[in-house]
Amino acid sequence: MGHLDPEAEPLDLTVDGAQRILTHVQAEWPLEACGLLGGIGRRVLAVYPTRNELASPVRYRVHPEDLIRVIRELEARGWELVGIYHSHPHGPPAPSAIDVAEAYYPEAIYVIAAPVHGEWRLRAFRIMNGTVREVPIRLVE
Ligand SMILES: [Zn+2]
Repeated sequence: MGHLDPEAEPLDLTVDGAQRILTHVQAEWPLEACGLLGGIGRRVLAVYPTRNELASPVRYRVHPEDLIRVIRELEARGWELVGIYHSHPHGPPAPSAIDVAEAYYPEAIYVIAAPVHGEWRLRAFRIMNGTVREVPIRLVE
């Protein structure tokens, strides 16, 4: 479990973007859902639901066709891959050991959606060299 760094620059996510993530992960439950976050810096400008190639309740891998499609769209818009989201259908809302081991994008923010006492929550993390640090999510209009 990462500790919150008060100096950490927050991830800016619109209320609509957060709702789009939550709608997607709830629709895929009890399987893990995943998707990509495009934008600039730490500002999410678009949420891209993708297929979980593994179709698993405990693992995910963004389908490579979806990954290529989204990366091309980001390049066309002049945006960056701000983050990657996925769900933990049975919790907890924190990176698993596998998530830490397979965090191949050290610049990306990893957003995890999970139910906490029956209510879906989003948390964000940076994962670098095996170190997990929570990034605050700032909901914006
Ligand atoms: Zn995970």
